[in-house]
Amino acid sequence: MIASVPLVAGVLLLGWRPQPTVPVDERAYVATTVAVGGGERAAALQLYAAGQFPGACERFSRAAADNPKSPVWRQDVARCFEAWGRDVLRQNRPEEALLLFRQGLKALPDDPALLKAAGIAAIHGGRPTEALEPLERATATEDDVEVRLLLARLYDQRDQTDLALAHLTALLAREPGHAAARRLLEKIERERRVEAAFQRETTEHFVVKHRAAGGEAVRPVVQALERAWERVGDQLDYHPTERVTIVLYEGVQFHDVTRVHGWVTGLYDGKIRLPLGTGLPSGAALDQLVVHEYAHAAIHELSRGRTPRWLQEGLAQYLEGVRVDPLLRGPGGLTLGGLEALIGDPDPARARVGYDIALWVTEDLVTRGGLASVRTVLMRLGNGDSIAAAMTQVYGMRLAELESQWRNLLGG
Ligand SMILES: [Zn+2]
Repeated sequence: MIASVPLVAGVLLLGWRPQPTVPVDERAYVATTVAVGGGERAAALQLYAAGQFPGACERFSRAAADNPKSPVWRQDVARCFEAWGRDVLRQNRPEEALLLFRQGLKALPDDPALLKAAGIAAIHGGRPTEALEPLERATATEDDVEVRLLLARLYDQRDQTDLALAHLTALLAREPGHAAARRLLEKIERERRVEAAFQRETTEHFVVKHRAAGGEAVRPVVQALERAWERVGDQLDYHPTERVTIVLYEGVQFHDVTRVHGWVTGLYDGKIRLPLGTGLPSGAALDQLVVHEYAHAAIHELSRGRTPRWLQEGLAQYLEGVRVDPLLRGPGGLTLGGLEALIGDPDPARARVGYDIALWVTEDLVTRGGLASVRTVLMRLGNGDSIAAAMTQVYGMRLAELESQWRNLLGG
């Protein structure tokens, strides 16, 4: 089971508004200062306005080097590299964009717009840890609501709750009605109340949080987690770069914190959450459950949070070893869009059908190209491909063709 809590990829939409190739305000800025320079500057300005960033930034940089005391030229260099970096980031090349933003920061080291952009590029590039420093420096110069929310989410995912709360408090002091910030604050406080008496234990690949009294019950779960790390790692040929956090609740705590239906046995929302005690199976069933939730974590990281839910659930079930009922028949007019809606249906019976069909589609993909092909789809999604583009690249046919084949095979 995967919760629909917005993770980092969702946050990016907040932090990144699409802009025209040369943002109007930046063009206006250059125009007002154009009188300062000579012909060199006019040439640079022309290139900049035409979106010819490499040539423009090179000329601005040269002029700045000739006038090291002039703050105006440094502004030019910074804005030029910022616009170039944004352009490159829109083309889904976050690593290159990060280098360009850093180039701009050499001219203006404390520029909040460049620091924010560098942080977002680092997140896009799948390196959230590297986003913290520039984003923190950006808020130190300019109190930006979006940057604070981004930082709060990053710290919450890293389990650094105090830092997350500090940013949320500052944000809400400025904008008390900010709904997303309120929701995150409530979630963190709910978890904090329950987890106040928890202890933290670090194993080779996991951070495990649980009540001190629950020590004996925790051991088999930790062992199952390490087995899942090996097994899913072999199957997907991938291991997360950082330790995955798992929180083990007792009794009703699990449902208090996660706010999920009674029939849900485990959850992944950036952290794996499982109920201890009677809520938890033993033996092979425990292994299956733990593999399923750990698979969500690995899939999430491998695709940088960009896997659609049907593929998350289809692949998590496949990796835990569930196989499809050969008698399964799908609803008429199956498309991946329809499947995504079905799996998120609030009616448990309909959602269950969605899970079964998601598994069926995943099995079909594995039959076509092995698990390695599904892994390639995940990596392509992580690099910014749409699901349709990733499918066409990996399976050599348009998504509509695939969907039509599935409809024929599944009946209706
Ligand atoms: Zn799941």
